Amino acid sequence: MTAEQTFIVVGASLAGAKAAETLRAEGFDGRLLLIGAEDERPYERPPLSKDYLRGEVGREKVYVHEQGFYADHDIELRLGRTAVGLDSSASELAFDDGERLRYDRLLLATGAEPRRLEIPGGELDGVLYLRSVEDSDALRGRLDRGGAVVVVGAGWIGAEVAASARQRGLQVTVLDPLSVPLERVLGAEVGAVYRDVHVEHGVQMLMGTGVEAFEGDGVVQRVRTSDGRSLECDFVVVGVGVAPRTQLAAEAGLAVDNGILVDEHLQTSVPGVFAAGDVANAHHAFYGERIRVEHWANALNQGPVAARNMLGDAAVHDRLPYFFSDQYDVGMEYCGFARAWDRVVLRGDPSTREFIAFWLVEDRVVAGMNVNVWDVIDPIQALIRERVAVDDGRLADPDVPLEELAHGRGWTGPT
Ligand SMILES: Cc1cc2nc3c(=O)[nH]c(=O)nc-3n(C[C@H](O)[C@H](O)[C@H](O)COP(=O)(O)OP(=O)(O)OC[C@H]3O[C@@H](n4cnc5c(N)ncnc54)[C@H](O)[C@@H]3O)c2cc1C
Repeated sequence: MTAEQTFIVVGASLAGAKAAETLRAEGFDGRLLLIGAEDERPYERPPLSKDYLRGEVGREKVYVHEQGFYADHDIELRLGRTAVGLDSSASELAFDDGERLRYDRLLLATGAEPRRLEIPGGELDGVLYLRSVEDSDALRGRLDRGGAVVVVGAGWIGAEVAASARQRGLQVTVLDPLSVPLERVLGAEVGAVYRDVHVEHGVQMLMGTGVEAFEGDGVVQRVRTSDGRSLECDFVVVGVGVAPRTQLAAEAGLAVDNGILVDEHLQTSVPGVFAAGDVANAHHAFYGERIRVEHWANALNQGPVAARNMLGDAAVHDRLPYFFSDQYDVGMEYCGFARAWDRVVLRGDPSTREFIAFWLVEDRVVAGMNVNVWDVIDPIQALIRERVAVDDGRLADPDVPLEELAHGRGWTGPT
């Protein structure tokens, strides 16, 4: 009997919205609240550094659901509201306007927020971060005006913003203390491919270079770098990673360590309280350890798993991590998870911008990335999931179908 129950989802973004949708789809007929600190109804963030930022698609393209969806499904969507206190022993949530609500099940989908650069000049006008649609609108306004931008951080956000700014005709400089873009995830060899792509498009890539200070009279005008340069600019975009929003959970005494700790059912250390999406540091059955994934597909899939478990199911989230990125005409998908690897095997020539990279530990593929090569994610995932022993030569050989490597010679069925 769920009709008398109240379920609350905190965080009205992808994970939270998909959880609310699933609760209703699975028959939850009690009171359902979806609480969001932002004023917008749930939207997806990937376009905010890509086509939405460049002004190629409008606001209507980013929403998770149609305008009327929440009312139609009797989901009380409360926007511009922040949950400020959680008393898990009383099953009560407190809001910024003083209201308190009791819940029977709670999902924390509070996501992540950009890490701030605490350096001299960090508070100057024109030092921008990108997380929300509001941030993207502000940045788009800057792109419209043109000029020179310095992007601090060559991770996914920095790299995509740099690409979009170049596509809009701005003068772009990217700096990062690591030797190539995306080095932590891709390593030096594959990261160098992205460095070259940006250089080809006219970006000044200052790798191995940190930032010391932002300078200007109220407004940022220069970036002082660790190697003593002074870069003139009209504005700066900082993309130096995100931190999980754990404050509510931590203050309530839930176990927190690089995110809210959850088991494979996405339940926190407190029964009846779940966490999903960027904020969840979740036990992953395949890896046998906790991992926190800051990607769209993870939020998309964990929200529904948490919802099922709020209803008493024992669903497990054990999908392999997956993400995508688009920069200029270079699209990619990456799946798997690799903190360290022995070597990288390439199938295809990276200079053609059409290739697949595999990260291996001993003779097993632990991650794969297809760049401008499509419809291969299933066999790549199968290679990883089945822990297939592979031969480097056959892995590199485009004439050997990936399906054959994953499933054996003569395989004809779907992956
Ligand atoms: C610009 C950009 C581009 C991206 N591009 C890609 C991409 O190409 N590929 C990819 O795989 N991933 C991409 N991502 C990552 C992806 O968008 C995130 O993984 C995803 O948004 C996580 O969703 P979430 O619902 O867990 O959290 P979030 O999207 O962070 O949402 C959490 C929500 O909770 C709200 N909230 C927090 N605390 C409270 C509170 N106490 N009370 C009420 N509300 C609260 C926040 O305001 C926020 O709206 C991108 C992210 C950004 C910012």
